[in-house]
Amino acid sequence: MVLPVETTSRTELQRRAQALSLRFEGADASVVLKAALTELFVGRIGLVSSFGTEAAILLHMVSRIDPYVPVVFLDTWKHFAETLAYRDQLIERLGLCNVQIVTPRPAQLEADDPDGDLHARNADLCCHVRKTLPMLSALRPLDCWITGRKRHQARTRADMQLFEGEERRLKLNPLIDWSAGDIAAYFRENDLPEHPLKSAGYLSVGCLPCTRAVKPGEDARAGRWAGTDKTECGIHIVDGKIARAVG
Ligand code: SF4
Repeated sequence: MVLPVETTSRTELQRRAQALSLRFEGADASVVLKAALTELFVGRIGLVSSFGTEAAILLHMVSRIDPYVPVVFLDTWKHFAETLAYRDQLIERLGLCNVQIVTPRPAQLEADDPDGDLHARNADLCCHVRKTLPMLSALRPLDCWITGRKRHQARTRADMQLFEGEERRLKLNPLIDWSAGDIAAYFRENDLPEHPLKSAGYLSVGCLPCTRAVKPGEDARAGRWAGTDKTECGIHIVDGKIARAVG
């Protein structure tokens, strides 16, 4: 039986992801990153960053290896002003030379979200238009993209691997096993500034209309799309499907 090309290539990517995950099992995040940036995917790898509360770690690591590596920031035009200010602060502080600010297409917004309130009516479609489509376009030249996702953040992330095969490229999650303590220590040891909203209880920061501060005892991501079953923005694809709430 001849498998469809897409399926074959996805299987190949998943095999490669498994092999790389095995090869780098237990390695420090900075070691994996250095290998990915300087050996495995030279010139074909980028970091997608939300410039959220933990983003400074990967931005710092990448900037120390190669500040010209592309850093993609999805500007949904719904961010907190504090996030945009933090983004600019980190770009300057870390000397990032290749931050690509990607925005939704005006024609697409005009068609799907003319009044800017789609997030309240259909958050999945809003994320699709404001995040997923612009991101897929930004990732087109890349063979691998780096994310800051961690297993401890949500049940939907518990099974993720260091390298994952997605539709047409690999995804690298160097901080997969980092705990809250590891994160705090890295900020401290490298004197990294905190996101300005963190001290107000925003432990995970997304778009303004879809993020609230978390209450004591809640998960870090409990303030994202609170009160709905949505837990991911749709830029992460699992088994060929957009990641959604599980359980
Ligand atoms: S997080 Fe909210 S405002 Fe931002 S793109 Fe998704 S639904 Fe729209």
